Amino acid sequence: MAALTFSMSMPVTPFLIGSGNGINAISCYPLLTGRGVKQIKGKPYGGRLRRPVILFHIVRGVKQINMIDLHTHSLLSDGVLLPSELVRRAEVKGYEAIAITDHVDFSNIDFVIPRIVRTCRISNKYRKIKAIPGAEITHVPPESINELVKFARRKGAKIVVGHGETISEPVSPGTNRAFINAGADILAHPGKISVEDIKLAKSKKVLLEITTKKNHSKTNRRLVKLALKHKAPLVLNTDTHAPEDLIDNNKRKKFLASLGVQSDDINKIIRNSYNIVINIKL
Ligand SMILES: [Zn+2]
Ligand SMILES: [Zn+2]
Repeated sequence: MAALTFSMSMPVTPFLIGSGNGINAISCYPLLTGRGVKQIKGKPYGGRLRRPVILFHIVRGVKQINMIDLHTHSLLSDGVLLPSELVRRAEVKGYEAIAITDHVDFSNIDFVIPRIVRTCRISNKYRKIKAIPGAEITHVPPESINELVKFARRKGAKIVVGHGETISEPVSPGTNRAFINAGADILAHPGKISVEDIKLAKSKKVLLEITTKKNHSKTNRRLVKLALKHKAPLVLNTDTHAPEDLIDNNKRKKFLASLGVQSDDINKIIRNSYNIVINIKL
């Protein structure tokens, strides 16, 4: 153990580990983000070698990843809260991170995203909760999705959500596939998704969303079953539009369990959110 590199200056972040038996546990994981990678001079190739720093935490019991929600709306689209109030209410609810992902199309994308970016920047300066600027590209022609995903990122969206083909709206056929091919981070409520597109999402590492939103949640069971079968990555989001849509850690677990998700898979789904968040530089 002495041969391993310790980095005491690294930020300590919550994480989910192990067996849950309530005794001391040791965990380690390589931090592969910018700050977690050390430049090591020399050997063995006489030049500079980039190597992940292994960070050890010794903790009592199991630390939990608190609620992370990567799909929410403020009054910059059809939500009811100012972005700042949305973030604060999520913080009070016990959230660890929230992405504000208001609906955008060609008409408002350059108006909405910079304002969310600014709000998140100020919030992150003073609040513990991580506020992540994002956007949900909604109801645009599938042929324009690739261009709009790139534009959203250029404007500062760190999470790009694609408004998928629900069973309750006239979303254009081909939308699910276009978002996957465009490399959106999350395909939201993709109710009508085909098995072929589930496999494609897996290969492109696009997260498929389980939603707690009432009118879109009817297709959760089918999605969960197929995604688990084909090992496609899942994520749980609330698609919050009003304060009562935010959920706490307990409801998150109960909701996933109610869909028949076993505890190992629940942990994986939670870690999928966590992994995306720790790789976002704000
Ligand atoms: Zn949506
Ligand atoms: Zn939404």
